[in-house]
Amino acid sequence: MAIYNKMSVEDINPSGKRIFVRVDFNVPQDEQLKITDDTRIRESLKTIQYLVDKGGKVILCSHLGRPKGKKNEKYSLKPVAARLSELLKKPVLMMPDCIGDAVKAEVAKMKSGDVALLENVRFYNEEEGNDPAFAQKLADLAEVYVNDAFGTAHRAHASTEGVTKYLKPCVAGFLMMKEIKYLGGALSDPQRPFVAIIGGSKISTKIDVIKHLMEIVDILIIGGGMSYTFLKSEGHGIGKSIVEDDKLDLAKELIKQSIETDVPLLLPIDHIVSDAFDAKANVKTVLRGDIGPEWEGMDIGPKTVEKYTTFIHTAKTIFWNGPVGVFEMEPYAKGTRAIAKLLAEASDKGVTTIVGGGDSVAAVTQMGFASKISHISTGGGASLEFMEGKVLPGIAALTDK
Ligand code: ADP
Ligand code: MG
Repeated sequence: MAIYNKMSVEDINPSGKRIFVRVDFNVPQDEQLKITDDTRIRESLKTIQYLVDKGGKVILCSHLGRPKGKKNEKYSLKPVAARLSELLKKPVLMMPDCIGDAVKAEVAKMKSGDVALLENVRFYNEEEGNDPAFAQKLADLAEVYVNDAFGTAHRAHASTEGVTKYLKPCVAGFLMMKEIKYLGGALSDPQRPFVAIIGGSKISTKIDVIKHLMEIVDILIIGGGMSYTFLKSEGHGIGKSIVEDDKLDLAKELIKQSIETDVPLLLPIDHIVSDAFDAKANVKTVLRGDIGPEWEGMDIGPKTVEKYTTFIHTAKTIFWNGPVGVFEMEPYAKGTRAIAKLLAEASDKGVTTIVGGGDSVAAVTQMGFASKISHISTGGGASLEFMEGKVLPGIAALTDK
């Protein structure tokens, strides 16, 4: 298991230095390219402001969307530079490119405390291809490397991994440090009991995280669409519920692992079912095993919520990934809301609560509990891979303390 002890921005002296900062400015935009949610820019401010205050020359690098290795105005970071400038209350120099002589010339003119933003690094295929020559060109712009883009740390790209071979030291920004502290802390030294709640539509995307967490947690709670694969593997009727028939053996194996390792794997004991995958469908509550052939499980039922609550109440650390129902439709959001509320209440009592995964984070945010949670992970795929115990190349490449 990877336990990271990496240098951070607080371990360097940024004064007068050119600092290459990999951030995640991959923000959503509307048709007119107006930024519809600037959360990611705001989240990067702490690291940027810190480096500015310490007199660094801050050279920001990010990707935006999927320009597929070609220059495309649609994926320009210009709107981000404008928004960042408003938030920082100072000019942000938008570069014409991310490499090349023109960029180098602009960088040479930068003064301490200046901020520049390189153009979309994915305008070059060499970025995702982790091309060494391209990485060296990026590195040529700066002296020190900071990575604050946890969401891309699970990919060895030129700006997340390649570039680190040519710059020293390579350190973590504040966002990255927070991810390592909470996710790493949960895996290596959690306060116990440690309860994990895993949901989402499919078991296939969560196999590795379930297997790994079963070696670490004290209780594993299962919800969402994947429960039906587990329940079917035990012979229960699941009607038309979402199921992965090719994963029934695997589900059995995981249940066996839970018995052998004495880590309870809890499955729903009742369900909210509907007669169509629709918010306006007929809905009823049934006990485990009582899902009729024309019905599908859409959410965990009230008895399940009650049961899970008693276990969650014992926890000192809680990790949650994956909604326990089709929370996007209000009639099936109760279970997910109950879990979100339980985590918020637990946080108030000093329990460490961590939520990871795109949809889970969206649910907690929409339902208004995000500010209560100890740590909302900013990386979807990255947080899952971290919790699977995989080494994230973007973190591994940073300089050890
Ligand atoms: P995350 O992004 O947090 O890792 P996933 O992508 O694994 O979560 O799963 C989220 C999706 O799972 C949601 O879109 C939700 O509607 C779906 N889901 C949850 N429960 C069910 C269910 N019973 N049937 C079908 N889909 C479900
Ligand atoms: Mg998802």
